[in-house]
Amino acid sequence: MSNLTRADWEARAKALQIEGRAFIHGALCPAADGATFDCVSPVDGRFLTKVAACDAADAEKAVADARATFESGVWSQMAPAERKKIMVRFADLMDAHAEELALLETLDMGKPISDSLGVDVPGASRAIRWSGEAIDKIYDEVAATPHNELGLVTREPVGVVAAIVPWNFPMIMTAWKLGPALATGNSVIVKPSEKSPLTAIRMAQLALEAGIPAGVLNVLPGYGHTVGKALALHMDVDTLVFTGSTKIAKQLMIYAGESNMKRVWLEAGGKSANIVFADAPCLKDAAEAAAAAICFNQGEMCTAGSRLLVERSIKDQFMPMVVEAMQGWQAGHALDPATKVGALVDQGHLNTVLGFIEAGKADNADLLCGGAQTLQETGGVYVQPTLFDNAHNAMRIAQEEIFGPVLTVIPFDSTEEAIQIANDSIYGLAAAIWTSNLSKAHQTARALRVGSMWVNQYDGGDMTAPFGGYKQSGNGRDKSLHAFDKYTELKATWIKL
Ligand code: NAD
Repeated sequence: MSNLTRADWEARAKALQIEGRAFIHGALCPAADGATFDCVSPVDGRFLTKVAACDAADAEKAVADARATFESGVWSQMAPAERKKIMVRFADLMDAHAEELALLETLDMGKPISDSLGVDVPGASRAIRWSGEAIDKIYDEVAATPHNELGLVTREPVGVVAAIVPWNFPMIMTAWKLGPALATGNSVIVKPSEKSPLTAIRMAQLALEAGIPAGVLNVLPGYGHTVGKALALHMDVDTLVFTGSTKIAKQLMIYAGESNMKRVWLEAGGKSANIVFADAPCLKDAAEAAAAAICFNQGEMCTAGSRLLVERSIKDQFMPMVVEAMQGWQAGHALDPATKVGALVDQGHLNTVLGFIEAGKADNADLLCGGAQTLQETGGVYVQPTLFDNAHNAMRIAQEEIFGPVLTVIPFDSTEEAIQIANDSIYGLAAAIWTSNLSKAHQTARALRVGSMWVNQYDGGDMTAPFGGYKQSGNGRDKSLHAFDKYTELKATWIKL
């Protein structure tokens, strides 16, 4: 872990060279029409840099180049073992630049510097390395043919991949797409969020330095409704992978239908239930996990445990423990290494979160802690972790994704009722249950319609486990070998012997 103090990070921030240009065919370039937008830090309101506001002309250029690069075979036909070496080098370079990447990430979107350094950089480099290391260990299939025929079942790269990613884990979300997309030999165009474009640009530079050929990894910063839409409607993008809101995910399916029927893989929103049964093995552990599940990353997590379902018989005993655990998650200056809750991504998002807090109050949920903006003297955008008790599942704070540190507590009386409440959501990303009863754990886990299920913990998993959602939380899976399916087409070749 780093010994850097807040003053050290401040000094480094002042000296940081920040790049906001697009990255096409291995070179930095302005948007075709020269347009830019200002990148301002939510940490303290400082101006960071001007960022290229790419649009349709840039998408045109990047897609044509990515297609030509793909067809040249310089990456797509490279031996898997060689691609592996380069991807491992890319991951190593990210680790070597960990402090710089972490600082960029924190300044750009507000998360605590200790998390950027301890979670985001290693999480992203691990994803690149894991996929790279896997690619020379995967075999194709030979079908069970008659003796005089040979049937080959092979996986081929799809070609040109557009990856549209959000701002909450900019590097990790980018790496979850890039790992399998690059390992399988595709050319990729990343469209980072306009709220967090900086680390994707830096990652592309490091990829080039590692040996990933020019044109294989391109980055087009800009807005969703301009360059994002142009990529989604493009006739020569083969696959569109997305992480972001359910609203935009639905729009992307329409764009695909209106254009070339490109494959569309979506990781979207969530409203995950964290269910504490009376027979939880340790209520204190459950309370601490409940606070972490909503406060980590300022609650800006698709998997945030935003609905805490508590069995009524233990509720009076359990809630003081939750309140105490929430007190351990105070907002602080994001460049302070001791901070656990940093800045929200921008003023607009703060307004959204405060609007939900008002909705909770108007619906007469009991406000137990937090409920207001804080740290205004920093010039940044911070909110107090907030806890609403005695809510019910029809309230807006129980149904809608707040994407901030706002926890909604709902009591229940039976296992059936807990399952019914948990499944009463348009989302199906994740859930957790706390119980000492093995049968109840398995039965409840089976009954919950979610892509990730945790028992007696919250948010477990690593690169070996697929990640994604049921229902309107999306389709397909990131991470694990299952993610490779999104970036490959299956070909059957039948040979007469
Ligand atoms: P968002 O949907 O607003 O934006 C995501 C990306 O889509 C951005 O790059 C944006 O510029 C782009 N975009 C917006 N409009 C577009 C359009 N018309 N055409 C093409 N692209 C467009 O989401 P956000 O606010 O950046 O991120 C928060 C959301 O991401 C939350 O809903 C969260 O749950 C979700 N998320 C999901 C996962 C997961 O794995 N399921 C992980 C992280 C975040």
